[in-house]
Amino acid sequence: MKKYQIALIPGDGIGKEVIPECARVLKTLAKCYSKISFDFQEFDWGGDYYRQHGVMMPEDGLDALRNKDAILFGSAGDPDIPDHITLWGLRLKICQGFDQYANVRPTRILPGIKSPLRQCEPHQLDWVIVRENSEGEYSGVGGRAHQGHPTEVATDMSILTRVGVERVQRFAFNLAQSRPRKHLTVITKSNAQRHGMVMWDEIAVQIAKEFPDVTWDKELVDAATARMINRPESIDTVVATNLHGDILTDLAAALAGSLGIAPTGNIDPERRYPSMFEPIHGSAFDIMGKGLANPIGTFWSAVMMLEHLGEKDATKCLMTAIEKVTTNPALHTRDLGGTAMMKDVTEAIIKEIHL
Ligand code: ATP
Repeated sequence: MKKYQIALIPGDGIGKEVIPECARVLKTLAKCYSKISFDFQEFDWGGDYYRQHGVMMPEDGLDALRNKDAILFGSAGDPDIPDHITLWGLRLKICQGFDQYANVRPTRILPGIKSPLRQCEPHQLDWVIVRENSEGEYSGVGGRAHQGHPTEVATDMSILTRVGVERVQRFAFNLAQSRPRKHLTVITKSNAQRHGMVMWDEIAVQIAKEFPDVTWDKELVDAATARMINRPESIDTVVATNLHGDILTDLAAALAGSLGIAPTGNIDPERRYPSMFEPIHGSAFDIMGKGLANPIGTFWSAVMMLEHLGEKDATKCLMTAIEKVTTNPALHTRDLGGTAMMKDVTEAIIKEIHL
């Protein structure tokens, strides 16, 4: 029997609701698949921890996670704490500390879910977006001077390194190669950003040569937003810088029906450190504590985690259960136009797993 050590970090807002639901679902899976079991350790890091300790997570927090097989993360965000503190103090500390340089976001219209795109059949929208997750616009390099004076100045520098670009693009080409269509779209903005993004484009030409069976094209990020809406079927696998990827994946999640469904994996492809899986949505304080959160984004993230752990049967079982449940409109939560509560969705998933 394989026993997986999983860190649970519910974080803030609806993260505190969806992560325990996900742990229940994983426990059910373990009961059905006697080959696997999960040992969960929960960490109470986030906004409340910050109010008590002045930091989102302890200084040596990464050491507590280092030997885990994977991390399941809820969300970080608090109405009383500035966003850059909640983001940099927890999620980015883990992503960057564990060099999880590939942020992978699959986007599909699940059975029974309506896309806001008119005339878009589910098979026409099946993407995986790879967002660079360790540098670029999120390098944290910059500063402010003369604060409060008319002469105040602020800078944020985007740092792209050859090593960083090569590894994420190679990862994306590899991923594209593993998918039936074997097509990669490289997102750029080299018309305006004429240094880093030009290097990004040049590296794409170089890496593409390693993958002769993968077709690829290049798209400016602004044109990519229109293409996602007008010609979704022309897209398969995508690779983008940190900020471009952040924006495009929110659009992608909305086009697939709801922010509440979309999953993410923050992957260390070299497996030196644990990878982290989380729903794409944030803390959603407007619905917090009401039991209204859609837990599917978290469950789908758990599917990505199981896949990463190499648990093929459990991966398939959970994804099939999710797709059965989304097919039923009576099990749609409010974000999908339904009236189901989070617990109804979890119970239905658990029932499907048992079948
Ligand atoms: P943060 O600041 O932490 O990113 P946010 O509240 O600004 O969080 P999101 O949580 O990403 O942004 O989502 C925006 C809105 O989408 C929420 O206010 C909520 O109404 C809706 N939403 C997001 N996730 C879910 C979900 N899982 N279930 C139902 N509705 C959701």
